[in-house]
Order: sequence, then C-alpha cells, then structure tokens
Amino acid sequence: MYKKTKILATVGPASDSVEILEGLINAGVNVFRLNFSHGTHEYHASTLAKIREAEKNVNRKVGVLQDICGPKIRVGKLEEDFLLVAGDTVWFVKEEMVGKKLSEGKYQLSINQPQILDMLKVDEYIYLYDGNIRARVIEIGDKIVTVIENNGKLSSNKGVNFPNTVINIEVITPKDEADLLWGAQHGVDFVAVSFVQSAKDILHVREILKAHDSRAHIFAKIEKFDAVERIDEILEVSDGIMVARGDLGIEVPYYKVPSIQKKIIAKANAASKPVITATQMLLSMAEKEMATRAEISDVANAVLDGTDAVMLSEESAIGKNPINVVEVMTATIKEIESVYPYNKFEVYPFLDETDIISSSTARLADRLGVEAMISLTSSGKSARKLARYRIKADIYAVTHDERTARSLTIAWGVKPIMNIEASNLNMMLGHTLQTGIEQGLIDKDKTYIVTAGYPAGIEGSTNFIRILKKEQIEYYTDMVL
Ligand code: PEP
Repeated sequence: MYKKTKILATVGPASDSVEILEGLINAGVNVFRLNFSHGTHEYHASTLAKIREAEKNVNRKVGVLQDICGPKIRVGKLEEDFLLVAGDTVWFVKEEMVGKKLSEGKYQLSINQPQILDMLKVDEYIYLYDGNIRARVIEIGDKIVTVIENNGKLSSNKGVNFPNTVINIEVITPKDEADLLWGAQHGVDFVAVSFVQSAKDILHVREILKAHDSRAHIFAKIEKFDAVERIDEILEVSDGIMVARGDLGIEVPYYKVPSIQKKIIAKANAASKPVITATQMLLSMAEKEMATRAEISDVANAVLDGTDAVMLSEESAIGKNPINVVEVMTATIKEIESVYPYNKFEVYPFLDETDIISSSTARLADRLGVEAMISLTSSGKSARKLARYRIKADIYAVTHDERTARSLTIAWGVKPIMNIEASNLNMMLGHTLQTGIEQGLIDKDKTYIVTAGYPAGIEGSTNFIRILKKEQIEYYTDMVL
C-alpha cells in the first residue's frame, strides 16, 4: 500500500534541478507548485521542463499547480523603516507617495490599491506587515487616520490586510491574466486563485481558461474572511479548495484557523472535491534538520481532518534540505494512515446517481477485502467520487487521457494509470489488467473490483461494477495476448 494523502511541494531555488525534483518525487511528492508571486515566465518555463523531465525519468505521473498571486495589497515605499509604537498616528493617503515620518509618533504612507481606503469605516482595522502591526481607523475622509495598537517595525512593500472590510476589488489582476495565458500555453494541471472573495472570481478565471482552451482544474485559495463566509458558493463552482492558512490567519482571528480548516475540509470531502491544507506545515525545517513535534502533529491532524493533500512552501522552495522535508512528511503521513478512520460510508449525502453507485462499489470493495478498486474513467470524476469514502483499498484510476491522469495526482488515495483507448469494454479490461500485471500493480491471486461507465465517454454514466478474481483476470488478459 502506498501513502494515500498527497504532497504538494513548491519549487524554488532550493529545488529547481532535475536531480532534486527526481529526489522529491521518489520521496513522495505528487504535485509541484509554481509560485507566480515570484519568478519570470522564463524561470517557470525552465522549471516546468525540468519537472516533466524528472517525471519521465522516475516514471510516475506528477501534477503541476500554478499559483497566481492575485491582488496582494502592500504599503508603498518608505523613506526609512517606521519604528511604530502603540498610540502613534498613521495617515493613509490616497495619492501615491513615498511614506515618511512627519514628527515624533506621526507617520504618513500610501498603499498600492488606494481605492480600498474609500471603503473603510471608523473602528475597522488595517493590519500591516502580515498582521504584525494593528492600526485602528479613527477618522475617514481625504486621508484615513489610524491609531497604532501595538509596537512593530514597518518597512517598504510589506503586506496589508483589511480583516473587517469587504473590499470588493478585482481579484484577477492584469498580471494574473498574463500568467493564466502562460499556464494555458504550457499545459499546467491546476490553477490556484489567490484572495478569492466570491464565486464570481472563480467563474471569471474559468472564462479566461476556456478562452485559452485550458483544462486546468481551478482551486480557490481560501484566505479572506469573506471567502470563509461564502465557502458554499465558492466550493460549488471550484474544482478544488486550498486552505491557505498564511493569509487566512491574518484575516480571521488566529485561533479560528483550525476550526475553519476542519469545516472547509469536511465540505470539500462531501462534494468529492480535492482539498489542500497549506502553509507552515514543517516551516522550521526550512532551516533545521528536524521539525517540531507541533508541526508533525499539524501534518498528522490535517490528514485525520480528511485533507487530500498537504503543501510545502518555503520548506521546499528555499529550505535547506527539501528532500529531507518530504521524507519527514511522508513518514508522518504513513504512520497516521495506519490509524486512519477509513470507511466513511455514513457521512456523505448522495448528490447524484454516481454517488449511489460509488458508495455501493466502495462498500463492496471493503466487505470483499479487495486489493484495489479499478475505476475506468475519462474525466476522473468517478475516481474522485470513490475517494470520498476513504476506504483502505487502493484506487487505480485508469484513463487514456494524460490530462485526466495528471488531474488525479492531487486526489486522496488515487493512483492514476495510463491506458490505451480500446474498442470495447472487454478489450479495455484486458488491456487494463495486462498493463497492471506488467507494472506489478495487479496480482492474479488477489481480488479487485472494476467500475466504469459503458458505453464510454458519457459523463456521469457509471453503470458497471464487476468483481475480478484469478479466473476473470485470465479471461480478460487472454483476449489481448
Ligand atoms: C497562504 O497564504 O497560506 C498561501 C498559501 O498563499 P501564498 O501564496 O501567499 O503563500
């Protein structure tokens, strides 16, 4: 049995060679993340080419997730660092200017999206430097007057958050549009959309991708307080979700992050949509050889919450030993999966007919103690639907479509397998089983369940469950030998 929970690793200067990428795949990475907050298109194109080379050398499908940076709000340039003290006054001005100290305890600065300043009300907060400094609005007008509530040093271009204000700005920036076009041209498998506010933002990305003939699956990064409030409408139109705990922990009170993580994961699981838990999972390993006990527990608890995937950011992009980090993550996942609450049969509603069939397939597979469920799938949907029952048997998703195979790299417990398109169901089964035997995935002396929709290619038409033992495996494989 392989590990069920998938690992995403952000690629950066510490990991952007073919050799390290191969090491990362061998250590357990399923999906690589290209972070478009940094790097040029040339850099990402060269990284992507190396990922595809490593994938080929290791002979295991890996996905590529393009994380577009969205409208990150920042303070402008400052003449000098501001050493802010509780009680100081900071004026936010609407025209662009270099921030400066006016007199003792009095400062003035601008931000890169000044239109937001018009939306603020008295007593709302502006968080500076990733939430390290809190400024409370005391007066609105041509300038926004705030009083600083805690001490901290502010330097140029630091992040700004508005944890109480619905800012309603355009989420897809001109840079994001150009990046999405790049992603479509380079065939990325997933796109993660930053600072999503509502379903409308995801629909906008979908339109852009469609116009560029991209089939990338769209993941909404939940990192704003209003996205948490609108999680149902966002989930409905997204292909997957990322719990982006970094910014989320600034936008909502820090102590709410674990409960929000659990709620979002449960909702995504119920909808059979993959969910990623991200940020600071093994952060201390960016510098140290070993993680803290709390970090190890965080990874294990995200797995128990039901996450499909756990993500590494700085740890693998700029950290000291990315392969070591992935090894630690894999060991942690495997151990916790040995006490995992498998067989979540009673938990989820049936949203369509495929759910009813998938639930029967999974129950049957569990009762028979099969080695694996084999899902013949063209879109990948039926494999994702099987995954939500979290049964112990492996899920082999067999497809002739490489894009589908890669889209399943992120789904819990699913092992994507490529197969050729065959003329009829018997031939398809024959090829599938023969390939499985050749790859060491199918053992004739074990039991399997195969599920499919036949005739093939009609979405939502799963209508077939068959139990395969030695006699049936030999019957089908004989047809193609
Ligand atoms: C986060 O905020 O947790 C996150 C994943 O987003 P970023 O791209 O800013 O790291």
